[in-house]
Amino acid sequence: MEIIGHFINGQLSTDTARTQAVYNPATGEILKQVAIASKATVEEAIAAAEQAFPAWRNTPVIKRARIMFKFKELLEQHADKICELIGLEHGKIVHDAAGELQRGIENVEYACGAPEFLKGEFSKNVGPNIDSWSELQPLGVVAGITPFNFPIMVPLWMFPMAIVCGNCFILKPSERDPSSTLYIAQLLKEAGLPDGVFNLVNGDKEAVDTLLQDRRIQAVSFVGSTPIAEYIYKTATAAGKRCQALGGAKNHAIIMPDADVDNVVNSLLGAAFGSSGERCMALSVAVAVGDEIADVVIEKLKTEIGKLKFGHFADKSNDFGPVITAEHKAKVITHIDSAEKQGAKIVVDGRHVAPQGYENGFFVGATLIDQVTPDMSSYQQEIFGPVLQIVRVSTMQEAMKLIDDHEYGNGTCIYTRDGEAARYFSDHIQVGMVGINVPLPVPVAYHSFGGWKRSLFGDLYAYGPDGARFYTHRKTITQRWPSANVREGKQFSMPTLN
Ligand code: NAD
Repeated sequence: MEIIGHFINGQLSTDTARTQAVYNPATGEILKQVAIASKATVEEAIAAAEQAFPAWRNTPVIKRARIMFKFKELLEQHADKICELIGLEHGKIVHDAAGELQRGIENVEYACGAPEFLKGEFSKNVGPNIDSWSELQPLGVVAGITPFNFPIMVPLWMFPMAIVCGNCFILKPSERDPSSTLYIAQLLKEAGLPDGVFNLVNGDKEAVDTLLQDRRIQAVSFVGSTPIAEYIYKTATAAGKRCQALGGAKNHAIIMPDADVDNVVNSLLGAAFGSSGERCMALSVAVAVGDEIADVVIEKLKTEIGKLKFGHFADKSNDFGPVITAEHKAKVITHIDSAEKQGAKIVVDGRHVAPQGYENGFFVGATLIDQVTPDMSSYQQEIFGPVLQIVRVSTMQEAMKLIDDHEYGNGTCIYTRDGEAARYFSDHIQVGMVGINVPLPVPVAYHSFGGWKRSLFGDLYAYGPDGARFYTHRKTITQRWPSANVREGKQFSMPTLN
């Protein structure tokens, strides 16, 4: 059986001591094995990156950007292959995979602007014959650790920016759907990236811990679940590294009584069930303000959910696919069971349904749960499945308090026609990414992405302007070239121009 290996110093390689099965989640079959990197393999990747760094750091930024232009072209040229690899191992439908790839490519496009955003700042004559400037220097060897749910987009949040800023990169993608990520690593080489600048190691905790402890790694970007994000942040920062660790979510949508119901229903369907709810920006809780709007929305959702199609990734008419593993399917079902036991009402039950011919796949049907309350564990925890829970409240303030009191603060949305309410909401809500009649307010590549509270550990967000800040050190240089016949006097007070 094929073993998905690593990409180190421009070469494919593999560890065979430990491997792990990679499934086709639509059928439940094992497709391939993935090599689980040993400490020694990760150290080999770090050594390759360290060796490549001096030359890469000194490569003119326009040349670094040109490789990104070429990489973007190759991603577009091989889009069908990339989407197929995503679909086979993740299960998301090809149109959704194409959306993921496109959002990733937009980060490559942003990185192509490095000659502009790395220009720095210059001030002439800050003192007599003194000039001062700030420049953004690369950190050295940096690492990224990424989740299964966006095997292409999330790595593309990280390495194009890190590389174009002059760093060398080690990526540890998810071991659950590794093929598409390994495939694009090889496109980087084809685009002209020198060996060792980008390295990919597949693996698990052993690989991650090696990256976190090795003194040659200067910074770590992480995206995944909150418990692991917290562990990564604490361990990396304790080892003196710069770290940004993005975690889980529970994204609420407030439905105000004046909202346009048909728009609400259509957009909730995609935002809750698209990608089987396995998005960190998925809307998993709808907070209806007033029973009247709750009843209307639920009735319409019920009808529309009945029309949704789920199944194999290659069938474009499907709305969503399976969840990632059998264990994850069991976890999602346990959450639905617990909501029911704790008194919620299952309006549409996706627990025991499967598309015809895919009975062994890891499918959960779209599920709608009403009468959910904040004390329920299904409300408190991230489900990460095609499950939409409805909480009923009486006022907007009550809805906002629910969101503010929740452990997570990634994304949120308000559906309303009232500009004043929307403005108040966006100004005060304790969440990092806010939509106003926009269900998935994922920032575009030229803004930055990040949540609040326990959805992000660290100070800088992912990609966009914060990405460039994260992957560079600012250095400020103050320079004087004294003229030969002017001697400086001694000065013991703090230098000023007075
Ligand atoms: P995960 O936390 O299980 O895994 C993420 C990465 O961490 C993987 O590369 C994995 O190999 C590694 N890892 C797992 N356990 C580890 C351990 N004990 N020690 C060290 N490394 C470990 O996450 P996942 O299941 O792959 O992805 C889903 C999660 O990611 C969800 O919680 C989702 O909300 C979150 N997510 C967040 C964002 C965001 O931007 N905030 C984006 C996408 C996904």
